[in-house]
Amino acid sequence: MENTQNFSQIGICARCGKSLTQDEITNSEYNIENRPLCPSCNVNEANQVLNTLQPELRKRKISIILLLITLVIGGLIFLICEHSSSDWMYLGWLIMGIGGISSAENIFDGWIISGSMILIFYLIILLIAPVFAVISLIVSFYKYSKAKNGIEYANEVLEHHAQMSTIEELPKAGYTHTKKEDEYITMYRDFLADGDITEKERVRLRRYADALGITPERVAEIESE
Ligand SMILES: [Zn+2]
Repeated sequence: MENTQNFSQIGICARCGKSLTQDEITNSEYNIENRPLCPSCNVNEANQVLNTLQPELRKRKISIILLLITLVIGGLIFLICEHSSSDWMYLGWLIMGIGGISSAENIFDGWIISGSMILIFYLIILLIAPVFAVISLIVSFYKYSKAKNGIEYANEVLEHHAQMSTIEELPKAGYTHTKKEDEYITMYRDFLADGDITEKERVRLRRYADALGITPERVAEIESE
């Protein structure tokens, strides 16, 4: 039962329900719940991915820079002052803690921490300042590279589809017909449908083209398409 359902759904776009050719199924860059998308939904998906990941990448970058600065400055102050038993070492620890707090929201995105809990949460970060900062840095790097890969892939998808559409549209551009030319083509195809064009049919076509104001040169062009 489940198999037949999957089979009947595999041939249609998971987003818009348009039926897909075998090529479109194989070449679908994005899949929704393991189901392929049509070319235009793939383009939409790539644009959506870019809209989400580009601001995320910026956020991650700022987070990494802040963490690095606070870790290095705070860490140096802590190590130097700890060596000379100075109370300033707490400032070093505090700086690392503030760096960690600044990235906390970034690390636990999607987590909603209620008002009173957030103070306890920040206090824990301050207590384990360098540990949290290092973990936060690793997680930030991981999320940054994931977002970067996602953006690169989306750009490749968009580029690929842009090339495809120029390949598909270029011959079409030469195929543009006026309304009168379309009328001629309809008649020409009717005559062609039963095999060759007979002498009689050829005469009628020539007269028809004359009546429509289509030159013999243009007729030859249209018929050779
Ligand atoms: Zn679609």
